Order: sequence, then structure tokens, then C-alpha cells
Amino acid sequence: MLYAQPIARLIEELTKLPGIGPKTAQRLAFHLLFSPPEDVRTLAEAMVDARQRVRYCSVCCNLTDQDPCSLCADEARERTTICVVEEPRDVVAMEKTREYRGRYHVLQGAISPMEGVGPEDIRIKELLARLNDPTVKELILATNPDLEGEATAMYLARLLKPMGLKVTRIARGLPVGGDLEYADEVTLSKALEGRREI
Ligand SMILES: [Zn+2]
Repeated sequence: MLYAQPIARLIEELTKLPGIGPKTAQRLAFHLLFSPPEDVRTLAEAMVDARQRVRYCSVCCNLTDQDPCSLCADEARERTTICVVEEPRDVVAMEKTREYRGRYHVLQGAISPMEGVGPEDIRIKELLARLNDPTVKELILATNPDLEGEATAMYLARLLKPMGLKVTRIARGLPVGGDLEYADEVTLSKALEGRREI
């Protein structure tokens, strides 16, 4: 044991985080060791608090600390359109465009045969349950413009079209293989505006 046990433990725990190798873990650990105790407590509390209070919205499956989430609870938002995205951060990207005033559905992933993710592994069942509401007229498929995103959009289109819904896909023009969240607001606005029925 090269470090005192509490330091070794802290480094070990930090190494479990994504993108944190042993060197970064050591750097973070020593940063925390020399930080004011109050700052460290605030950080620890923020982690525990977020983990305890954040859950999935029972309507749109986005992450939220209140159920239904603030977007689902907002009566001013149109009920006729549901924009289907992969991740919570995609909702943030769409909201930043200020173009979209409808509702969302967060799949919490995309279909990926390569990684063994099938339709039953993402929140499609929850999406279908929402379509019992006859006020829903259009579904905008805003999954990422990569292999998994396209496969998911095609799967959903085949599933939803027979239900008599208008199903649209956000326009190309987004960088292929890119993530929705990295598209700038103008590009994403145009992709939304130029959506086509599929
Ligand atoms: Zn919601």
C-alpha cells in the first residue's frame, strides 16, 4: 500500500468513474485532500442528493426530480406533437433552439444489434402507451444521425405509421455520425424545420 488507506480508497473509487484513469484519479484525490472541508462536503452531498432525488418521468422517461417532469407538467406546451430523442441531453439541445413547443419522449438509448440493445431495452413500450391519447397527431423522430439512431427511427416508423400517425424524421444536414447534442442551435433548428414524413 503506497498511500494511506483513506487516500488509496478515494483513488480507487474515483477510478470507477467513466473517463477517469489512475493518473486523473490521483490528481482529483489530492485536489480534494487539499480543498476546504466544506467544499468537499458540498460535492459529496450534491452527488448523493442527485442520486437519491433524480428519477425517470413516468410520462416522457426523461430524468427529473418531480413526477411528471416540468416539461410534461407545462400546460402551455402543445400536446399534438411528441419529439422522440435518445438521451436527456438531446432534450436540452432541442430546447436551446427555442423552435419546438411540443412534448418529448426520451428513449434512454437507441437500438443497437451490435451491442445487444433491442427495442425492448429502450423506452418504446412507454411511448406506445402515450399514443392512446388521441390528441397526439405527429411524432418527430429526432434520434441521432448515426447507425443506431437511423435503425431506431426506421423501427419506430414501421411501428407507428400503421397507427395513422404522422411520423416525421428531422432533416439531414446534421453531421452524419454526430450526436444531436453537438449540433449547433441553427443547424438543429433547420433540421427540425425541414423534417420530412417517413
Ligand atoms: Zn416528462
